[in-house]
Amino acid sequence: MRPICSGPRFFTWGGRPRPRGTSWSRSPRLSQQPGQEARRRPGGLPHKVGLLLILLAFTCAGQQPADWIWSARYVVTMDAQRRVIENGAIAMRGDRILDVGPRAAIDRAYQAKQRLDRPDAILTPGLINTHTHAGMSLFRGIADDLRLQEWLDKFIFPAEAKNVDAEFVRWGTRLACLEMALSGTTTFTDMYYFEDTVAATTKECGLRGVLGETIIGFPAPDYKTPQAALAGTEKFLKAFANDALITPAVAPHAIYTNSDETLKAARALADRYQKPLVIHLAETKTENDDSLTKRKMTPAAALDALGVLKGWTVAAHGVWLNDADLKILKARGTGLAHCPSSNMKLASGVAPVVKILGLGIPMGLGTDGVAGSNNDHDIMQEMDLAAKLQKVSTGDPRSLPAEQAFAMATILGARALRLESSIGSIEKGKRADLITIRLDAPHAVPMYNVYSQLVYFLQGSDVADVMVNGRPIVRDRKMLTLDPQAVMAKAVEYQGRVRKSLP
Ligand SMILES: [Zn+2]
Repeated sequence: MRPICSGPRFFTWGGRPRPRGTSWSRSPRLSQQPGQEARRRPGGLPHKVGLLLILLAFTCAGQQPADWIWSARYVVTMDAQRRVIENGAIAMRGDRILDVGPRAAIDRAYQAKQRLDRPDAILTPGLINTHTHAGMSLFRGIADDLRLQEWLDKFIFPAEAKNVDAEFVRWGTRLACLEMALSGTTTFTDMYYFEDTVAATTKECGLRGVLGETIIGFPAPDYKTPQAALAGTEKFLKAFANDALITPAVAPHAIYTNSDETLKAARALADRYQKPLVIHLAETKTENDDSLTKRKMTPAAALDALGVLKGWTVAAHGVWLNDADLKILKARGTGLAHCPSSNMKLASGVAPVVKILGLGIPMGLGTDGVAGSNNDHDIMQEMDLAAKLQKVSTGDPRSLPAEQAFAMATILGARALRLESSIGSIEKGKRADLITIRLDAPHAVPMYNVYSQLVYFLQGSDVADVMVNGRPIVRDRKMLTLDPQAVMAKAVEYQGRVRKSLP
């Protein structure tokens, strides 16, 4: 029997779970009080009410206070045992998860101020996008189906030179955060310009970010030299040193766009502040071939020889990696970001994900930028593509099974960022970054395996609710921290400006 002190749900639905749909409730808004409810019962007598209240107080006294309880048909924890709890629930206080377990046990142990019950949904850890360029979102689809160099020279570089300023990045990041949150991403790793604006906007939207200002060997929209970008990065590292949502990073663009001195200085700066270095690595055959010609080493070996991989590093792509490179990455503890959409769309190649994960190198999933290399921020789509791409490339349908693909979007992504002690799974003491995904759609039924459902059937648009750091930011598919209409109207306004600016 559900204890009466689990309050909100008891009085909202008379103790029975609502069969479908959402049910948010907040204790202070309840019109009925326990005493009132009791008085309406047939045959209820005043002295019995008194006894009931005493019993109630006794029962409730054993309960711990919580800010939230979220329950769902399945809770997919992604903990070490990979527990999937049917009729599960999570209690939270402040920014942390207090407890996770069967709903009945959580309801007995905790008294929550507010609750969300989703009897027709899956509750999972928030998804992690380990590589993107959020500020570029206003260039979504600016030009597609071109070779990378032509795309950069004819479209991106001219468009960036004429359009990118702090306001552009603010609206681009808002658009990206809106899209990411609505499709279940709670943490993203970013590299772009005006990264202080990206950080402020990320906080405004309520997402978690590992964010780094792009350091590149040519004049950028904000910093004209790599030295200026390094100095700006140091200020950024100081400004967000202890932020609850932002992990500031040092982000040299790649080995082929920076001098050795800049790369070494970037490593030293990251180490000095004990923050991650974020970089593109071995993305294309051209990058690999050029490095072999100029340096007689692969990009991974060359970066390691410079000392760049010796420390907390998150490297995006990792398509062109040989066995010796993988040994280096394993030894250095480098985290990788796999971007299947981008790698396919730009014909970059197929990252050896099965081999990488088999060696225990942590690899998460990334969307890359949406300007031309994806063109969306939907990590649920990346899981599906990652799994299928490995099957095609290895000729083995057993490659990258659904559970492992889902791990890449959650706990493995957290490990790739070295943030697994706080995010990536639903466990006591971790940050409350959670999503619910609805199961009441034709493509969501029936369900025989929860991981198959998550990876192969469900879509970003099935995400219903999102919480980051204990704060709900999406409720019933509606963004709570942004005005979506205003953000989308601004995107259309920028489209006109960008189009006019192109040669
Ligand atoms: Zn990228």
